[in-house]
Amino acid sequence: MSYRGRIAPTPTGLLHIGHAATFSTAHRRARDAGGEILLRIEDLDPHRCQPEFATTAMEDLKWLGLDWDGEPVFQSQRRAHYLKAWECLRDAGFLYPCHRSRKEISSLAPHCEEPIFPSHWRRDPEEAKSFASPAGLNWRFRVPDGETISFRDGNFGAVEKLTGRDFGDFLIWNRDDIPAYELAVVVDDILTGITEVVRGADLLTSTARQILLHQALGAKPPEWFHCPLVCDAQGNRLAKRTGGLEIQTLRNQGQTPAQVLSGEARL
Ligand code: GLU
Repeated sequence: MSYRGRIAPTPTGLLHIGHAATFSTAHRRARDAGGEILLRIEDLDPHRCQPEFATTAMEDLKWLGLDWDGEPVFQSQRRAHYLKAWECLRDAGFLYPCHRSRKEISSLAPHCEEPIFPSHWRRDPEEAKSFASPAGLNWRFRVPDGETISFRDGNFGAVEKLTGRDFGDFLIWNRDDIPAYELAVVVDDILTGITEVVRGADLLTSTARQILLHQALGAKPPEWFHCPLVCDAQGNRLAKRTGGLEIQTLRNQGQTPAQVLSGEARL
């Protein structure tokens, strides 16, 4: 099977040097393997995503010299596929409707960035079968108890995540009637034939969740390659505060694509 990768920006803001580093690794791995690379715009959440950011992301990628094959895929246009997967998971007994709010869940572990959904709030997936659609409720995937999910990462080597300790039942669909990130990514990776996922190391735990989803949907998981996260001069992750390290800003300051990609821009 020939290599097929993807670059998957979320258009909630401007791309920064962390994205540039990850996306150039994804691009290089695909091209080195003589394979293809797709562009997928992860614009599922209409409250947080803006079409202008998708447009600038594409301009930034082109400026960096990171091309892609075929037309970009927009998640906002693929709802029918996610709905079908929801139905499949509902019928196979993997999902349950969840009435707990994010606030209630985080109040159990106020200092935890990603609190684990407590097992005593679980519902029986049998309940799900009477629902014809996911609208109006949160839906969770019931993870098996005390199971170690192991995978080989092309960069970090052997990784293990334990259910109940590292992650719990996770969202598949939210009450605003938006498919959750984990579901959409897995459905798209399966349907577009992705053979290797290259992305940031902040998603290592998501990978364990996504392996469970691939299995539940009867698909073989792809290979994984997680890139180290780029930090600013103070050692903080660039995820939330990009502090002038956006690709657009550096470009306007006269930096070249090579300088942005080498991380020289950080100095
Ligand atoms: N859209 C995600 C991000 O911008 C990447 C998701 C993925 O690669 O699976 O961090």
